[in-house]
Amino acid sequence: MNDCIFCKIAAGEIPSTKLYEDELCVAFNDANPMAPVHFLVIPKEHFASAAEVTADNASVIGHIYEVIAKLASELGISDGFRVVTNVGSLAGQTVRHIHFHVLSGKQLGSFD
Ligand code: AMP
Ligand code: ZN
Repeated sequence: MNDCIFCKIAAGEIPSTKLYEDELCVAFNDANPMAPVHFLVIPKEHFASAAEVTADNASVIGHIYEVIAKLASELGISDGFRVVTNVGSLAGQTVRHIHFHVLSGKQLGSFD
């Protein structure tokens, strides 16, 4: 997607603080962190949200959870973190390229 900010981050066309990258996904720090640890994991392939997961693209989701577990271990947060993916305006999704927020480093509150 030409105008997608996360495609540009995945391609290295705009800067980010990358924590991890492989052929399928990229993890980078959120620019507006909501917790002491707040990073995002995205597939390099563009699709808009969890509402667009199909048999053709579902395997990358499992891979992303594998990467999240590895990064959580490396960052020392394996005992407590939250993974969130927002879908659509009603859930507050602002970037229409599927992404998984990983939050930790403080007591996280309840949510809607
Ligand atoms: P969401 O509201 O679920 O769509 O989350 C989008 C997230 O992307 C927000 O937490 C933003 O702070 C974050 N974000 C937007 N642009 C960038 C960027 N260039 N680098 C890092 N994080 C970003
Ligand atoms: Zn994209």
